[in-house]
Amino acid sequence: MVDVKAREKQLRERLAELEGRLHRIEDHLEQPPDQDWEDNAIESEMDQVLEGLGHAGNAEIQAIYAALARLKDGTYGICARCGDDISDERLDVLPHTPLCRTCAREVTQKR
Ligand SMILES: [Zn+2]
Repeated sequence: MVDVKAREKQLRERLAELEGRLHRIEDHLEQPPDQDWEDNAIESEMDQVLEGLGHAGNAEIQAIYAALARLKDGTYGICARCGDDISDERLDVLPHTPLCRTCAREVTQKR
């Protein structure tokens, strides 16, 4: 049985953390480039890394919103692929996952 309140709290805390991090990345990206070209090269390398992090964060944010929606309609904790229950231990580590361990492994292997 899924503890909806506890999972929602967990998801919202993670969401706040990710959104805070993304805002810091955006702030950094909006800063004007440095005058010194050498620093500039390092800067743009940094920006690429940060943008990559931003994309990963965005994907997780989308997944968290989807998980919150599933909490609302009562399908949270049920695998979206096979319909089995997702174990609590798995949800503790990946509260936004839509897949059980078996399906997640199969999906990863197909890639
Ligand atoms: Zn499954």
